[in-house]
Amino acid sequence: MEEKNRQRYRSRRIQSLRQELQEPEVRQKPREPRVARAGGELGEQRGARAAWELGEPREARTRRELGDQRVARAGGEREEQREARTRRGSGERTRGSGQREPGTSGAARRRRALGEGKGRKRRRRRRKPDALRLGICGVLLVLGILLVYALILFGSALTKSIKGGDFSGFSFPWSKAEAVIMLDAGHGGKDQGTSYGDILEKELTLEITKEVEKLLKDAGYAVEMTRTGDDSVDVYQRSRLANREKPDVFVSIHCNFLERGEASGIETYYGKDRDEDCQSLAEKIQASAIEKTGAVDRGARTEDFVVVKETKMPAALIEVGFLSDPGERELLQDAEYQKKLAQGIADGIIGYWEEKKAAEEGEEGKAPEDE
Ligand SMILES: [Zn+2]
Repeated sequence: MEEKNRQRYRSRRIQSLRQELQEPEVRQKPREPRVARAGGELGEQRGARAAWELGEPREARTRRELGDQRVARAGGEREEQREARTRRGSGERTRGSGQREPGTSGAARRRRALGEGKGRKRRRRRRKPDALRLGICGVLLVLGILLVYALILFGSALTKSIKGGDFSGFSFPWSKAEAVIMLDAGHGGKDQGTSYGDILEKELTLEITKEVEKLLKDAGYAVEMTRTGDDSVDVYQRSRLANREKPDVFVSIHCNFLERGEASGIETYYGKDRDEDCQSLAEKIQASAIEKTGAVDRGARTEDFVVVKETKMPAALIEVGFLSDPGERELLQDAEYQKKLAQGIADGIIGYWEEKKAAEEGEEGKAPEDE
């Protein structure tokens, strides 16, 4: 009898413990039978574990179910809109049930937090490799563009050299030139310049100018030409081109002619109102041209020829000899003499530029001492 009472007491105690331990919110929600079943198990720990285990998939399922309901109700709605609304809806629903049942437990909130946390984690895990892949793609794209650009530059430099028939003037496009020299072969096209029979100034000046171009490029200078063929370019166009391209030095090459009397030799001009840079340039070219050719030295002079007056950079114009003089006329047509002339002109330009550079570096070197 006493044993029976004890057993009855124990079973009643167990029953009451069960009721106490049952999660109120879960117990009263018939919509979630799995959690309710889990909650019905003995012990708070098991209930909590079951809830934790079931929390995530249950939430997902609930969302899916709610999503399906939404689809049934408003089939035409967009995916994102629907998802957003579903999430909002599920939140409202939980809050609503919380009001209905004051016992909405911390476990439900925890489950929600766990579920959302897992969702966020998964989203982050998915985004990380995406960003990495995007970054790598971007870097590869930039490298590709740079490579193509370098190839185009290299190709164009190579093509120019091939077209010219020799590679002496070839330089890598990314190697920095000493300076940019604009060479101006006098006259051209309709404008023949001076002439003697079929000997034309425009042809001689182009031949000599092309020699100078080659020598300057060999010395590491960049060269621009106002004309490379038998083109008609007037002197104002040449000055404008120079002022637009802004070379470091501008040098024009011409042949002389004297109608009456006798004259021979070389003279180099600079603009009357130009600075001492122009004078220095003219003097350097004059001196080295005389040195290379042994021609009569007619000196560096001032004269307002358009190309030395209108240009904004150091500019000079050399008259390499007289077509009116029989001896000089013969020499000017000789390839070897042309090369000597060209060497003289190129040396003059290089001499001018190196002196100018040394003077600027000297000034830079002095500056800290003065302070
Ligand atoms: Zn001329």
